[in-house]
Amino acid sequence: MSPDLALHEAQALLAAHTPGPAAAPEILPLPAAAGRILARDLISPINVPAHNNSAMDGYAFASALLPQASHGAALTLRVVGTALAGRPWTGAVPAGCCLRIMTGAVVPETVDTVVPHELVHSTDAAGQEQQQDQHQEEHITLPPATLASLTAGANVRLAGEDLAQGQVALRQGQRLHAAALGLAASLGLAELPVTPRLRVAYFSTGDEILSLGEAPRPGAVYDSNRYTILGMLRTLGVETIDLGAIADNPTQLRAAFTQAAAQADVVITSGGVSTGTADHTQALMQELGEVAFWRLALRPGRPFAFGKIIDKSASNAIPASADRSQKQSTLLFGLPGNPVAAMVCFLTLVRPALLQRMGASASAPLSLSARASHAIKKRPGRTEILRAVVEPGADGVLTARTTGAQGSGLLHSMVQANALLQLEHERGNVAAGEWVNVWLLDGLL
Ligand code: AMP
Ligand code: MG
Repeated sequence: MSPDLALHEAQALLAAHTPGPAAAPEILPLPAAAGRILARDLISPINVPAHNNSAMDGYAFASALLPQASHGAALTLRVVGTALAGRPWTGAVPAGCCLRIMTGAVVPETVDTVVPHELVHSTDAAGQEQQQDQHQEEHITLPPATLASLTAGANVRLAGEDLAQGQVALRQGQRLHAAALGLAASLGLAELPVTPRLRVAYFSTGDEILSLGEAPRPGAVYDSNRYTILGMLRTLGVETIDLGAIADNPTQLRAAFTQAAAQADVVITSGGVSTGTADHTQALMQELGEVAFWRLALRPGRPFAFGKIIDKSASNAIPASADRSQKQSTLLFGLPGNPVAAMVCFLTLVRPALLQRMGASASAPLSLSARASHAIKKRPGRTEILRAVVEPGADGVLTARTTGAQGSGLLHSMVQANALLQLEHERGNVAAGEWVNVWLLDGLL
């Protein structure tokens, strides 16, 4: 029996221990709310559309005339005027008459059906082609075939058809993406209540970590985690605080943790969380808060730390700004140092927790089914997440092939991949053609 924590268990623990948004909602002008999370349900103050309106350019008439025109007869109607979008017809439409109407124009009360202009013959009173003569009455004729194609209410969009006044237009937790902003704007809502923007501080740890601009030295590696993690955080729409790369030195680490906790709602680090390492990162995390060090049954990404930084010296801490005074303890996520492991742990564990902290309703990417295009070796008892390329096969069904070597430091395979293939905890070897679950990386990186 493995003592390691299954991925779903770790996800459940994170969900149970991650609070929702701490502070009161902010009210922002609609354009400034882009990418933020809606803090309350939005109730529609109006009907959408606001009025019955025409879906076509044509002629509006009363559907009561339709049955009268059965038995192969044509229907001739007098045109009383024109309604344009934004310029309603204010006159009457007497019985036996119709109204020339353009798309989006208000359909008056007494008519309910629109015949598209290309389905009618427009004639003058004498039965000749209409010449737009002001002195002539205009008539249209609906031939039998046109009449047969029309039902009462055809080509009319009813008031409140998209959304009735008083209905929930957008749910609390909705991310305000382009469509959500457009919908809110269509209701005339100029300001939106959003959850406070999450502040997330990040630093890399390790004596071997080189920052950009530093000269290479034996045994050292350039800090890539800083850019993968900060990049994914920005994609998520949080405010990021980049605290750089910190050597494995207790004084510097303590200063970095203290600064991070004072400025941010969440602190993310990478490196130094493997059990049995000689690093100071673990000891510091334990000293500053309540932190659990997990051995995950996850490949890549076994070591992972989660906890809270508790401000034990609140009274002599650097004074926080007013809105930080009610601050909850800062959440801490310690990612493994290996670049792919850090990304996988971020996507599978940290990202859902951050979305929960932001008050977002959707926290997991959509899982799709694809056919494995080759056999994959898999040991039951741990979740394996493989970098994969997903594309439609010859039959149109999605297929997934791995990007080859899956070493946890191979960042280029993360670039080649367009998806992560997940082999569940209990699963064994996968045969070619078996169904597997994949997450598309589009929108996550
Ligand atoms: P650790 O989790 O600290 O034991 O690190 C595991 C591996 O990841 C080591 O080979 C580190 O050099 C590498 N590593 C740690 N942090 C980073 C980083 N920020 N960027 C790139 N590689 C890293
Ligand atoms: Mg290390």
